[in-house]
Amino acid sequence: MNILTLPIAVLQEKMLRRELSATEICQAFIARIEEVENRVQAYVYLDLEHALAQAKQVDKKIAKKMPLGALFGIPMAVKAAMNTQRMPTSACCSRLIHHHVTDNAPVIQRLLAADAILLGKNNMDQLSMGSSTITSCFYPSKNPWDLSKTPGGSSGGGAAGVAALESCFALGSDTGGSIRQPASYCGLVGCKPSFGNIAAEGLLALAPTFDQIGPLTKTVADMACVLDVAVEQKPNIAYSKKITEALPHFTVGVPKEYFHAGLRAEVKSCVLQAVAVLEKIGLRVQEVSLPLTQYCLPDYCLLTPVEFLPIFDQLQEMAGDENGDWGLEVKTRVLTGAFLASEKGREKYYLPAVKMREAIKKEVALMWQKVDFLLTPSTLDVAFSYEQMPSGVQMRKSDELLAMANLTGIPAISLPCAFLDNMPVGMQFMAAYGKDDCLLQLAYAFEQESALKIDYLDLL
Ligand code: GLN
Repeated sequence: MNILTLPIAVLQEKMLRRELSATEICQAFIARIEEVENRVQAYVYLDLEHALAQAKQVDKKIAKKMPLGALFGIPMAVKAAMNTQRMPTSACCSRLIHHHVTDNAPVIQRLLAADAILLGKNNMDQLSMGSSTITSCFYPSKNPWDLSKTPGGSSGGGAAGVAALESCFALGSDTGGSIRQPASYCGLVGCKPSFGNIAAEGLLALAPTFDQIGPLTKTVADMACVLDVAVEQKPNIAYSKKITEALPHFTVGVPKEYFHAGLRAEVKSCVLQAVAVLEKIGLRVQEVSLPLTQYCLPDYCLLTPVEFLPIFDQLQEMAGDENGDWGLEVKTRVLTGAFLASEKGREKYYLPAVKMREAIKKEVALMWQKVDFLLTPSTLDVAFSYEQMPSGVQMRKSDELLAMANLTGIPAISLPCAFLDNMPVGMQFMAAYGKDDCLLQLAYAFEQESALKIDYLDLL
């Protein structure tokens, strides 16, 4: 038994049976950080002494039989774009390097109130702009599956840290794929809940009608445990209970537009193998068509820079006369946004893009009359190496299959489905808005049936 790989439910059982203490669990993760962090670089801030103090508090509560929160004793990490009282909220941007806030983001408050333990804050692409962590003002994080490769981004530090067993789970944010793409690259489960299900307050925003906080975990069961606490609008049945219920005879649509020529052929066959697994668990699978799919990524690229403009003004104010630079990516997006918001840009590109978003929403809404879920690949290929960095445009394409869920607000989850060249391949399930519980139920049933074994301890 290794503490680092145990599911949340098992860790908690062991704490209640006094076979393990919260302090021992916390110490195990701290020892792991000391062992591998210099190679992985998942974190930018650590608060380990305080984490140990939190763990001791949990042990006291257990000893005194006091009421415990639902995530008691579970060590977590959060993206550096989320407000925390004790560590800077720099979003890995040199201009914000000393940005301190007084309150924890509401979601972090909820997790801490549920007795989770905060180890530190994860590396990320600067201001959540990017797909590799290369735009971080600190350093790029490394993919534990192959340290020469990116863990993805923008929530890449969190994914690298969970896969390297440096935290039990991490919180990331997903504006156009930034949780699901790193999950796919690191062999993890990454969920973007229905828009608004987790308060985005206290997150340095990128595009407020797209931004969604969500967890990265090793399993769907762990995902359900974290969402039970993080999500504000509680479903009737807790996610962690719902996932074990028998799956109704759902129908899964496989949209043909997601399997276009740009998708690596081997990734396509890996994802299509999942169809057999779904049929085995009693689901009906059918090919469907979403013709507007090709416009999703361009639409994302046109709408988000405009939403970022007022945020940039606030950030400039926050940064004051702090030295440092906004970085090329940020400047490019501000300039793009400024053009798109100008008279010419607005008429020609921005307003049509707003209309296109509505059309995409309609097309997807109609789909739910035919199917309960959609199955797609998560990314076009496995993680790329830092030595062969794709061009800017190619890099943006790593989110091509993920942007639709942010444009429409629907819940989406990426989970590992196979391996290629010793790297994990991710696939994505999506469901209608608000059907997060059914989505988790499906992901759990798939995970159980496919029984893909990942030994995260073996990675490093
Ligand atoms: N990689 C995408 C971008 O750079 C998505 C970012 C995100 O989801 N935060 O815009």
